Amino acid sequence: MTSVLESPRTMRTPELPATMKAVVCYNPGDYRLEEVPVPVPGPDEVLTKVEACGICMGDVKTFHGAPSFWGDATQPRYVKPPMIPGHEFIGRVVAAGPGGEAHHKVAIGDRVISEQIVPCWACRFCNHGEYWMCEKHDLYGFQNNVNGAMAAYMIYPKEAIVHQVPDGVPIEEAILIEPLACSLHAADRGNVGPDDVVVVAGAGTLGLGIIGGLRRQNPKTLIVLDTRAERLDLATRLGADLTLNPLETDVVAEVKRLTDGYGCDVYIDATGYAPSVNQGLAMVRKLGTYVELSVFNEESTVDWSIIGDRKELDIHGSHLGPYTYPRAIDYVATRKIDVRGLVTHQFPLEQFADALQVMERGEHSLKVILIP
Ligand SMILES: [Zn+2]
Ligand SMILES: [Zn+2]
Repeated sequence: MTSVLESPRTMRTPELPATMKAVVCYNPGDYRLEEVPVPVPGPDEVLTKVEACGICMGDVKTFHGAPSFWGDATQPRYVKPPMIPGHEFIGRVVAAGPGGEAHHKVAIGDRVISEQIVPCWACRFCNHGEYWMCEKHDLYGFQNNVNGAMAAYMIYPKEAIVHQVPDGVPIEEAILIEPLACSLHAADRGNVGPDDVVVVAGAGTLGLGIIGGLRRQNPKTLIVLDTRAERLDLATRLGADLTLNPLETDVVAEVKRLTDGYGCDVYIDATGYAPSVNQGLAMVRKLGTYVELSVFNEESTVDWSIIGDRKELDIHGSHLGPYTYPRAIDYVATRKIDVRGLVTHQFPLEQFADALQVMERGEHSLKVILIP
């Protein structure tokens, strides 16, 4: 009798093991390294060997039980434990279920990435091409039907959006494709033109990607705010014209001084720090554009009359990286956006708890990755 793992309907490379190491999330703070079965790809699915998994601040917030993920009196629960976290990854196809290779236009051995959202393709948003706002909104690593990349192997299901990644891209750069795709979407949401003075608040991984994306749109002046000197150095390398440290400079006054008192045309918030909202509303000019990308730990209280009565602002949200993966892959692979140096720490999967801590502290660290 053949086991399901050796099903002749599943093509796989011969050396695949039956079990693998994975980080399994049960509850906030309760993440365990376990030996679990290597998943078997079903129809139109592929199995990939994970090369690396980046840690996102969203993973840190999930670990600590943030209500936006775990739910509370006013928000439904988003996560479905027990699940394997990890939505920033690169892998290689090692097996395919029936039709899996043709469906995803990949072959065994291909280096691949899947967009972090797995759309349902049935809701009104998916039906209008707005798949990143899918009502079901399954995202790798947050629900157990779309387990993530903190494991040796993972499935890209039928609904996944899969892209090829060139073989030669070093993993420390390829792993930044997912966050860069999000950054490019945020930069696009600024509708930046050549006469614009743009302020990017926050030069973490996402902010730095936004700077790289904006540089290619060539605004008049690109100003970057961060409280950490080493991040401002990277911002300059990625194309900032001017960097300011809010701990040393009254940044609202300085941006107004640089714009004849009017304020910046576009403010893009990638800080994850709630007071940045009022800072942005104060420094953006009348009829300007404010882009919000942050996921905050707490609410931000603002005077909405600034948005309406006083400035008539355009407020643009930004979520995930829709339609931007091909560009992100090209920019990383060609170094049109040079992301070298953004991965500051690598840990083996076994040290996931240390990795989460280093990511959370953020001192002399930007992107922390796990190698399974
Ligand atoms: Zn992320
Ligand atoms: Zn949908």
